[in-house]
Amino acid sequence: MSRISGTTRLVGLIGYPVAHSLSPAMHNAAFAALGLDWCYVALPVQPERLEEAVKGLPALGFRGANVTLPYKEQVAKLVEALSPEAEALGAVNTLVVEEGKLVGHNSDWLGFLRALEEGGFDPSERKAVVLGAGGGARAVVYALARRGCRVLVLNRTLSRAEALVASLSSHLPNASLVALPLTEGRLAQGLDGAELLVNATSLGMAPQVAASPIPEDVVLPSHLTVFDLVYIPQETRLLQRARAAGARAIGGLGMLIYQGAEAFRLWTGQEAPIEVMQRAALHRLEREN
Ligand code: NAP
Repeated sequence: MSRISGTTRLVGLIGYPVAHSLSPAMHNAAFAALGLDWCYVALPVQPERLEEAVKGLPALGFRGANVTLPYKEQVAKLVEALSPEAEALGAVNTLVVEEGKLVGHNSDWLGFLRALEEGGFDPSERKAVVLGAGGGARAVVYALARRGCRVLVLNRTLSRAEALVASLSSHLPNASLVALPLTEGRLAQGLDGAELLVNATSLGMAPQVAASPIPEDVVLPSHLTVFDLVYIPQETRLLQRARAAGARAIGGLGMLIYQGAEAFRLWTGQEAPIEVMQRAALHRLEREN
């Protein structure tokens, strides 16, 4: 990291907890690589002080911040303006201070789309099955629907999947979105004719690395592309099974890096050095896990 001075520009990460985030390492490496006098700090914020912390950013001279669990939806209600994407998603993962005012953006959907396309899958006019209905799933379904992909959302709690589909459909009236409960039968039916399967549940994430959202007896077709949002571990049980079935397998680290790259661009006006961010994230992951 470059030396902090009286003119260093600040950005940070608001969440709780944030100590294990890869974002400070990624962004500080990117600032150093481009010779920018900027610094990215982790900002653990207690729930009862969220509003105070967010509204204090302009007063403290911050250029912006990322927002992570569990605050993305709450922060969307605290800003003075929202990008159209953050408004459609009802969630903010990037704050930018513009002329003293807080503007909320969302780069998660773009991060997913870039990682998916870089992985070799163009979702335009295809059919996808998305597992999960939390914040990650929302960004994924939005990204796919924007590309004209038909999406079946399967979630353990059906009402959550239905709410996701209803709210995104109101912003994307031409989207083809269906919500059903996550059962073995629905999964098998849904995979029939689908070309993309996305895991946006937390199943398979460390420390429960043996868990998979797909029961072991469900066969993954070889023509499928499987994208797992989970990135710790990088090679989840689901991705191992996809590779073994001859399917294309894409892990969640690319999504994390590309959402960060978009935040970097929004703050600095410069394109992020993707490879530098990737190396820093991998280094941090290998050191911690
Ligand atoms: P979230 O809002 O808490 O949602 C969690 C989802 O997982 C819900 O759909 C939940 O279903 C489902 N789930 C949890 N335990 C389950 C179980 N035992 N069986 C079936 N379903 C279960 O979390 P999120 O923010 O969407 O994150 C989900 C995952 O994506 C996490 O692993 C996160 O790290 C990852 N993620 C990665 C990126 C990236 O950049 N790569 C970005 C965002 C998220 P219910 O609704 O029924 O509870």
